[in-house]
Amino acid sequence: MKLNTIDLHSHSTYSDGTLTPEELLCAARKIGLQALALTDHDTVAGIPDFLQAAVRYPEVAAIPGVEISTLCSGRELHIIGLFLDHENPGLLDFLNDLQLKRRRRNERLAEKLAALGYAADLEAVSKQAKGKIIGRPHFAEHLLKNYDFANAREVFDKLLKRDAPAYVGRPLPFPEAAIEVIRRAGGIAVWAHPIYRRSKERSWCRRILRRLVPAGLDAIEAYYPQFDESQTRIIRELAAEFGIALAGGSDYHGAHQPDISLGTGYGELRVPAEILPELQRRRGDKIREN
Ligand code: AMP
Ligand code: MN
Ligand code: MN
Ligand code: MN
Repeated sequence: MKLNTIDLHSHSTYSDGTLTPEELLCAARKIGLQALALTDHDTVAGIPDFLQAAVRYPEVAAIPGVEISTLCSGRELHIIGLFLDHENPGLLDFLNDLQLKRRRRNERLAEKLAALGYAADLEAVSKQAKGKIIGRPHFAEHLLKNYDFANAREVFDKLLKRDAPAYVGRPLPFPEAAIEVIRRAGGIAVWAHPIYRRSKERSWCRRILRRLVPAGLDAIEAYYPQFDESQTRIIRELAAEFGIALAGGSDYHGAHQPDISLGTGYGELRVPAEILPELQRRRGDKIREN
């Protein structure tokens, strides 16, 4: 089956997804995706596995990526890197620092949960993670298994989300720093899920783009499970206004977000393969610039 569809945003067991990189590629082939990007949070440790497995799935173009959480004007903003060199020393240093801060956050989170009466020993929490990235979804999974919660969302709402009693923040870099490190590693920088909570935020997006496009932002996610047609249209218009490319993907996390499917999101998502050449062209331009 050929859908002429791609997915440029997915998570594996190397961060907070539940499929391995190879299982992701296998699933991508099954549904006929032409390209898949692996974009684990704060790590490229899954990329060697991903690229090795990709040899067995030649129908799917495997794009190495990463997703970096940043802080921008008081809000969390996620920058995805695509087509990057996962062995670039500057990138690895940058990610190592984020991982250290994440580990410290996790220790404090475990303590806070303990104080609230929830045992969440880090070793037990990390059980299903393949790599060093332990995130709140792993805590949610552990608490769901051992305490009386209906689903992971409820654990987030009652304990883990921002302003909930067990929440612990971590220091985040500025988006400009993430963009620079991605570009120096030969990648292109994408603003992930630019609109939140189903609201239309054209003016906020415009303000952020005025800051990030001069800093080197290459693209913006116009296709995302939570976006309706009007939101996708707004993003497409803003991309045209600022002269940046379109990207998009399902943000698939496997069983951690069971209502989201690879490639199709809630069922309606379709990221057209036609956006890929422009992203590749921008990457090619940059390689010539360097
Ligand atoms: P962390 O990077 O460890 O702080 O965890 C953030 C991750 O938790 C995100 O990448 C999502 O996968 C997940 N997440 C964040 N907020 C929620 C929420 N309200 N419900 C379910 N999952 C969430
Ligand atoms: Mn996640
Ligand atoms: Mn994100
Ligand atoms: Mn993501």
